[in-house]
Amino acid sequence: MHSYSLIAPAKINLYLEIIGDASGGYHELAMILQSISLADRIDVLSTSNDSIRVHCNHPQVPTDKSNLAYKAAELMATQFPEAFARYGGLEISINKQIPVAAGLAGGSTNAAAVLVGIDLLWKLGLTQSELEELGATLGSDVPFCVSGGTAIATGRGDQLAPLPSLDNIYIVLAKYRSLEVSTAWAYKTYRQEFGNSYIRDTNDLVARANAVHSGEIVKAIFERNAAKIAEKLHNDLERVVLPAYPQVLQLREAFANEEGVLGTMMSGSGPTVFALFESEQQAEQVKLHIREAISDEDLELFVARTITHGIQVASSV
Ligand code: ATP
Repeated sequence: MHSYSLIAPAKINLYLEIIGDASGGYHELAMILQSISLADRIDVLSTSNDSIRVHCNHPQVPTDKSNLAYKAAELMATQFPEAFARYGGLEISINKQIPVAAGLAGGSTNAAAVLVGIDLLWKLGLTQSELEELGATLGSDVPFCVSGGTAIATGRGDQLAPLPSLDNIYIVLAKYRSLEVSTAWAYKTYRQEFGNSYIRDTNDLVARANAVHSGEIVKAIFERNAAKIAEKLHNDLERVVLPAYPQVLQLREAFANEEGVLGTMMSGSGPTVFALFESEQQAEQVKLHIREAISDEDLELFVARTITHGIQVASSV
């Protein structure tokens, strides 16, 4: 085989709690991450030269060394120099469907797909946990994106514990195309405003993360009860993003007033807002309603569903 085509799903946060400071300016987090059917397609191709090239159909995505997919390829070339020498260069094409800088881990899932694609292309036979370890050096969402499904993520978000898979809960995602929220700004502002209440003792940090493991939303996930899960959605970063970005607040309120919405929340550091539904029909209806209510061409709306996997191979040649 000299090329693999991979499907790289986005994620939403069903839960995001900032517990305290971690080393290196990071935060100790307790999150519940969920893969969704909204996905990019990544083609990874072996070429006869010895360079790494990235192409993308989205004008906002850089194709130089700052692209996370490029960084993933570079990491593999450094880690496995013999394979890189034997199989030659790499051409990576990103077909973006996931909105950029949206709190949906678009870049991270592209990086995860490149790790999986190169592992296959170079016949390295890496295990899931070896791929996740490599991914953790690229960004804290990358390990989750490799395996996907539903998981609790603690530490910086890179320590994963799988949860029962949630299949077929329907989702409407809403994002203003031109609105971006810097993840670094959101966490920095949260620290400035709420850092006084951070847990500082290491044992207490562990105890708090463990408490999330046995919390109400996790119980609801074990019961696969969409309505109960939706009742317990939580995101600490809403405390800083909603007051600063009225458009995000407006979307939260618009969803909350719609019939059939089980629950609504901002994903990650935003600005995407999502709502959960029992059925695809209800989701489609609310998407239409919101489109009518907010007639702004800048607003992007997607219907997706929860899925039980991360990176998947679509085809190989
Ligand atoms: P997260 O949810 O992990 O915080 P995000 O969804 O908010 O991520 P991304 O879509 O990953 O954000 O994009 C963040 C920035 O990273 C963008 O502004 C973009 O310039 C840059 N970037 C680098 N590589 C990629 C990539 N492969 N896809 C999208 N953005 C990328």
